[in-house]
Amino acid sequence: LPSEPDLLARRERVLAGVQEHYWAVPPRIERGWAVHLVDTTGRARLDMVNNVTAIGHAHPAVTAAAARQLALLNTNSRFHYRAIADLAATLAAALPEPLERVLLVNSGSEAVDLAIRVAQAATGRKDVVAVAEAYHGWTLASDAVSTSVADNPNALGTRPDWVHVVDAPNDYRGRHRDADAHRYGPEAAAAIRALAAAGRPPAAFLAEPFFGNAGGVPLPDGYLEQVYAAVRESGGVAIADEVQVGLGRLGRWFWGFEQQGVVPDVVTLAKSLGNGFPVGAVITTADVAERFASEGSFFSSTGGSPVSSVVASTVLRVIREEGLQERARTVGGRLKRGLLALAERHPLIGAVHGEGLYLGVELVRDRATREPATAETALVCDRLLDLGVIVQPTGDFKNVLKIKPPLVLPEDAADFFVARLDEVLTTGW
Ligand code: PMP
Repeated sequence: LPSEPDLLARRERVLAGVQEHYWAVPPRIERGWAVHLVDTTGRARLDMVNNVTAIGHAHPAVTAAAARQLALLNTNSRFHYRAIADLAATLAAALPEPLERVLLVNSGSEAVDLAIRVAQAATGRKDVVAVAEAYHGWTLASDAVSTSVADNPNALGTRPDWVHVVDAPNDYRGRHRDADAHRYGPEAAAAIRALAAAGRPPAAFLAEPFFGNAGGVPLPDGYLEQVYAAVRESGGVAIADEVQVGLGRLGRWFWGFEQQGVVPDVVTLAKSLGNGFPVGAVITTADVAERFASEGSFFSSTGGSPVSSVVASTVLRVIREEGLQERARTVGGRLKRGLLALAERHPLIGAVHGEGLYLGVELVRDRATREPATAETALVCDRLLDLGVIVQPTGDFKNVLKIKPPLVLPEDAADFFVARLDEVLTTGW
């Protein structure tokens, strides 16, 4: 594979350790275009995993808007300029009532951190209930609610006492499986009520509305309704982390929480919002925003800067104009049907999770025991890289092929991926 040992060694020497890349010998990427990444030898590979560049690599509308704005004005967000107001209005309009007040930051971690701070300040409480096996970020508060041992092996050892963790509502691999998964909602609601009864009513319940870390496992029906009711009953707020699932990726729904038929009190956004440019947002109700403003303060020098605001507004416009939610639905549906057809022939595939272009292919050694095929998953990813497809493992057992491509994925590229996976599973990994 094309990769310069010297450059890799230098990277390892000067980067502080943990900024991992995915392969022992990664290809050096030089360019991106739509759904492809091109390495230094000129070889293009299909990018099936990059959930940041939602509208496609190097989208010309973003490039033009960012370059124009950068040449005109970029400044500390304390100044008065148009772009931040336009973005906030667009975001507020894209969310259902009563979500209407916007705070702008630079990343998903910052958005989650700020959402927690908003909830704590607005309620005058500290405790937060989060879900096991989740990832929400690397800053102190977002790390505290990140429970996935795959992303942070120390996750469970470093948990501060204001974080309370309920079971991962995973119907394939959780404590309750299949038809029993409906038990997660009442159990999490009971845990929240027990905290309130013990004199520690939580400031917030925080979760992804679609279980991202396990590869796109939907929450059991009614889960968020039951849990949100419990947290609101005791005066807390419901936070939905839409950093991965929001903005049309699920196809049938623009927001993940729509799939559950609920509206949260606080929403976090990032990743797709900037199509790779750093921008994140917290959107909340007027009531929560006012309670937060009277208790705390917030300022980010570059959150909502003219350039990041223009980029995010452009991304939101392109998602609408190019019909990318609909595309996630149709191409994602075709992709899922292709993967389910593979599952009929390849016993290594235990399940195909997800919706739209937010899918996970769970690989198992035995369909009855669901023993994770961790080593096999890494080998399958390596073979796919050789065959021109970039895909990576996810989940606490690293046995799920994470499939979150740019939403501009064409049908023939979806078919190409299914064919290459078929090839690997047929010829061996
Ligand atoms: N929340 C979720 C659901 C995420 O998937 C991530 C990133 N993987 C984050 C928050 C943190 O975002 P960032 O890496 O931009 O800080």
